[in-house]
Amino acid sequence: TLSDRLTSVLQNLRGKGRLSEADIDATAREIRVALLEADVALPVVRTFIAKVKERAKGAEVSQALNPAQQVVKIVNEELVGILGGETRRLNLAKNPPSVIMLAGLQGAGKTTLAGKLAKWLKGQGHTPILVACDLQRPNAVTQLQVVGQRAGVPVFAPEPGNGVGDPVDVARKGIEEARRAQHDIVVVDTAGRLGVDEEMMRQAADIRAAVQPDEVLFVVDAMIGQDAVNTATAFAEGVGFTGVVLTKLDGDARGGAALSVREVTGQPILFASNGEKLEDFDVFHPDRMASRILGMGDMLTLIEQAEQAFDADQAEAAAIKMGSGQLTLEDFLEQMLALRKMGPIANLLGMLPGAGQMKDQLANLDEKHLDRVQAIIRGMTPAERDDPKIINASRRLRIANGSGVRVSDVNDLVNRFFEARKMMSQMAGRFGLPGGGGKNT
Ligand code: GDP
Ligand code: MG
Repeated sequence: TLSDRLTSVLQNLRGKGRLSEADIDATAREIRVALLEADVALPVVRTFIAKVKERAKGAEVSQALNPAQQVVKIVNEELVGILGGETRRLNLAKNPPSVIMLAGLQGAGKTTLAGKLAKWLKGQGHTPILVACDLQRPNAVTQLQVVGQRAGVPVFAPEPGNGVGDPVDVARKGIEEARRAQHDIVVVDTAGRLGVDEEMMRQAADIRAAVQPDEVLFVVDAMIGQDAVNTATAFAEGVGFTGVVLTKLDGDARGGAALSVREVTGQPILFASNGEKLEDFDVFHPDRMASRILGMGDMLTLIEQAEQAFDADQAEAAAIKMGSGQLTLEDFLEQMLALRKMGPIANLLGMLPGAGQMKDQLANLDEKHLDRVQAIIRGMTPAERDDPKIINASRRLRIANGSGVRVSDVNDLVNRFFEARKMMSQMAGRFGLPGGGGKNT
C-alpha cells in the first residue's frame, strides 16, 4: 500500500540533516508509483509530483521537523490543495425553488444520494422534494419513492400506466409542483447507463437545458478507479456539471478517483457518501481525503502538534538519544512532560502508523499511572536517573518510600523503562528520527 511505501521511503530519509536533490528525486519516484497503485490517473500523478518536487526543493529546512516529516507535510498540503482546500457549499437560487440535478453512471449511487441529500437538507431547515426522471429502468421510480419515504420527503413521479414518459417533461412538471407546494429545493434524479452512452448524455443534457439547475452534481463511485477520469471527462463534455459527489467511500477504495476527478475537471467535490443508509453522508473534507489517500493515519496531526509543542533542538537531541538507546530516566521524564502537554498520551501514540502493534502497551498507559511514574522518577537521585542500572534493591526501597509507592511499582517502572528504551530505538528507525536504526546503532 501507499502507507507501506511511504513508510519505507521515509526510512530511507532517516538521519539526513536536510533534503538533498537526490533524496527528493528518490522519494518522488516512490510516491509516484504509490499514487498509481492507489488508482490516481497518470497525468494527475505527474502534475502532483512536479508540484511536490518544486516545493521540496524550495522549502526552508524546518527547525521542528526532520526531513522525513517535512516531506510528508508537503505531500499532504499539495494533496489537500488539489482536492479543493476549503469545502464549497451548495449554490442555491435567490428565488426558490433551487434545482439540484444528479447525473452519473448507473449504480453510481444517484438515487440513494437523492434520499441522503433530501434528509440532510431537511435537517438544515429546507423543504426538499424529489423528482423521478429515471424512466429507463422499470423500478427506478419505485426505488426513489422508497428512498423519499425513508427521508420523509415527497416524491414527484409521472402517473403510472401512460407508457414510458418523457423525463424532460417530468422534470419540468416536478419543478412546477415544487413551486405550487412551496418546496424550496428540488432534487432531480436521472437515469444512468452502465457505460458512457450518447443517448443517456443527450437525455441528461436535455433535462439540464430544460430546468436550468443551480447545481448539476456528477455522482461517481470511488471504487471505479482509473475509469474515473474517462467517465468524468465524458460527463463534463456531454452534460456539464458544477460539483462532484463521491460515493461508496465505505469500501476499500483509496480515493485515487477523488484526486483524478478534481484535477481533470476542475470542479469541486461537495459531498461524500459512505454507506447504504441515509445517514452515511457528509460534506466532503479535503484534509480527511488526503490522509486517506496517503494512508498515514493521523500522523499528519502528530506532525502539526510536534511543530507546536517541541523545542527543536531539545527534540533533536532527545531523538538522537532515543534512537541510539542512550535514553536516561531524566530524558524519559522530560519527554513525558513534553508529550503530556500535547494531550492524552494513548491518543498521541495511537496516531503513529504501525502503532497498532503496540495496542497492549497503549492500553496500560493511563494518565494516573503516568502521575505515579512522574513521582517515582522525581524520587530518584540524578545519578540514578542518569544510569538506571545502578538502582539496586535498597535503592528501590528508598525510592518507593520517598515517593509513596510500593517497591513493585518502582520495579515495574525500571523494567518498563528498559523495555521502552528498546522500543523507542526500534521506532526511531521506523519513523526516520535522526540517530534511529535500532540494531544498527
Ligand atoms: P444509481 O443507479 O446511480 O441511482 O445508484 P443507486 O442509488 O441505485 O445505488 C446503486 C447501489 O449502490 C445500491 O445498491 C445502493 O444501495 C448502493 N450504494 C449507493 N451509495 C452507496 C455508498 O455510499 N456505499 C455503499 N456501500 N453502497 C452504496
Ligand atoms: Mg437510480
